[in-house]
Amino acid sequence: MTSIEEEEPKTQALRSHKQVNHKSLLQSDALYQYILETSVYPKEHECLKELRHLTGKHPWSLLSVPADEGQFLNLLLKLMNAKNTIEIGVFTGYSLLATALALPDDGKILALDVNRADYEFGLPVIEKAGVAHKIDFREGPALPVLDQLLTDENNKGAFDFIFVDADKENYLTYHKRAIELVKVGGLIGYDNTLWNGSVADPPEVPQPDYIKKCLGFVLELNKALSLDSRIEICQLPIGDGITLCRRTI
Ligand code: SAM
Ligand code: CA
Repeated sequence: MTSIEEEEPKTQALRSHKQVNHKSLLQSDALYQYILETSVYPKEHECLKELRHLTGKHPWSLLSVPADEGQFLNLLLKLMNAKNTIEIGVFTGYSLLATALALPDDGKILALDVNRADYEFGLPVIEKAGVAHKIDFREGPALPVLDQLLTDENNKGAFDFIFVDADKENYLTYHKRAIELVKVGGLIGYDNTLWNGSVADPPEVPQPDYIKKCLGFVLELNKALSLDSRIEICQLPIGDGITLCRRTI
């Protein structure tokens, strides 16, 4: 039987996750702020900083990955020596720029989004950073582009990294394609897999409508990834949760 002493900290953690006002699952604003101010902002590329400030003026600025996640992706891609990547869900391009800055000069990112206007909102900063030539942006739903890629055998296993940060209802559909497109030893990253902490909430906990709408899809994805024998995974509590999947076969 669980004692009250054991229950209390869990309840407190649940409460504090709901109360904090930032894009991290850490338990206090102060701790997150400490990470940003000590390790992230001082090292942030000046164009990423400019893009972050510009995106702050966009009415949907909360869609962008936070700076600590951009820093993580940038370091990860350098460690992997990634050269050929796909991004599904670009918005104003913060994760895209963090990726483009990590790739070698002849690196390539196939960047997919239904909305070109948001990409163009951030594009002047990406151009200023001198990395726009690495980006092949295609406007439209991502799925037909992935299917088109798969009609060419040369694209199978051709990508080092695929970052998925778009419509949660399609993540499992993307996974079926991404697993064929990424090389053995390469990575797929799924963003928002902790979904504002809601994945661990009991069903009676009220959720904002936008969280409720996709919670089932995120839960289903997390379960499917954990059962997929073709990948090794690691779910990290950076940003809103990112699950890294390394293709093994
Ligand atoms: N990674 C971005 C960043 O760091 O700023 C944030 C991406 S935002 C959370 C999600 C994006 O997915 C939106 O820009 C939206 O237009 C795009 N999107 C939604 N459905 C899509 C689809 N079916 N195909 C491609 N992009 C889609
Ligand atoms: Ca995201």
